[in-house]
Amino acid sequence: MSSDPDCLFCKIIAGEIPSDQVYSDEQVVVFKDLHPKAAVHLLIVPREHIKSLNELEEQHDGLMAYMMRLLPKIAKDQGLDNGFRSVINTGPGGGQEVFHLHIHLLGGTGLGSAFL
Ligand code: AMP
Ligand code: ZN
Repeated sequence: MSSDPDCLFCKIIAGEIPSDQVYSDEQVVVFKDLHPKAAVHLLIVPREHIKSLNELEEQHDGLMAYMMRLLPKIAKDQGLDNGFRSVINTGPGGGQEVFHLHIHLLGGTGLGSAFL
């Protein structure tokens, strides 16, 4: 599985940088965002280093579907019975700051009807 030694999230996945992890399996790691924008703000991060949606290939279809199906399970575990928001920023124009694909999962207080 590819990883990038200079990538922040690869370092977190490798345990070289601490994180507040809430879930992990053979495909993904889920940890709390360092600067939460809502009461619950998690990052669903694939173990494989994929820079962004722009770099996705057909071989990643299973992984992406897996992460989509994981989102409501994690949300439920977090007590988000009333719903949640999921966001993927892509490229500098999309506000992406860490170039290792990840899905933001937000919920609880602090969320209105706006996009972010
Ligand atoms: P994005 O702008 O979509 O690339 O999101 C990157 C997210 O990573 C931001 O919401 C940051 O707050 C978050 N972040 C940055 N460094 C860390 C870290 N060391 N641990 C957890 N989250 C982080
Ligand atoms: Zn990475």
